[in-house]
Amino acid sequence: MNLAFDPGHRPTVAIVGESDRFPVHRIYCVGRNYADHAREMGGNPEREPPFFFTKPADAVTESGSTVPYPPRTANLHHEIELVVAIGREGRDIALKDANAYIFGYAVGNDLTRRDLQFAARDAGRPWDTAKGFDHSAPITPIHRIEDTGLIEKGEIWLTVNDAMRQRSNISDLIWSIPEIIVELSTLYTLKPGDLIFTGTPSGVGPLQPGDEVQGGVELLGTLTFKIAD
Ligand code: MN
Repeated sequence: MNLAFDPGHRPTVAIVGESDRFPVHRIYCVGRNYADHAREMGGNPEREPPFFFTKPADAVTESGSTVPYPPRTANLHHEIELVVAIGREGRDIALKDANAYIFGYAVGNDLTRRDLQFAARDAGRPWDTAKGFDHSAPITPIHRIEDTGLIEKGEIWLTVNDAMRQRSNISDLIWSIPEIIVELSTLYTLKPGDLIFTGTPSGVGPLQPGDEVQGGVELLGTLTFKIAD
C-alpha cells in the first residue's frame, strides 16, 4: 500500500521508568464529575449518568512544554484531571472486570476555550472547538498500575504562578473510575491506547500568556507547563 503523503507519527505519551512509549488511540473526557465543579458550571451535581466528549489524539502535549495561547478565545481555562490509560480492548465491560482494563494513570489538564464552550452550550451546539484544539491535553508520563496500585483517593491540585487554584480529592469523583469505564464501554469499543480524562474539581479559571501552571495527583507526580508569552 502506498500512502499519498507521510502521515507522521502516531501520538504517544511517555511511560515512567521505561523507554517504551504509550501509543494514543483516542482521548475521552468526562464532563462534570465533581459535585463542586458541577455547581460552579451552573449544573446540578446529582448523580445523572456521566457524559463524554473527546479530544483528538494528537492534542497530547508533554509535561514541561510551552503551550501556545490558542486562537479564537479570550478565556482559556485550566482543568486539572486524573487520567486513566486503557490497556485492553473491550465493550460492555462488567463493573467487576473494569479495573483489569487499566494500563496506568497520569496527570492531565483538559484545557478549555471557556467562551466557545458557553457559546456552544447556549446555542445547543457541540463542544468540539471548545475542547479539542491543538495542545489541549498536556499530560505527564503514565505510571503503570503495577507500580501505583488502584487509585481511588488522593489529593488533586493545581497552581498558577504558585497560587493554589484547584484542590480536591479523587475520592470526591461522582462517578468512580470503574463506573466510567463501564459506561464508556457501552458507547464505544475501548482499545489499548485510549486515555480517559476523568473530570476536574472546582476552581477552574483563566490562564494568561506567560502563566506557569503546575498540577498533580498524589502518587503521580506533577504536570508543569507554561502558556507562551
Ligand atoms: Mn474536564
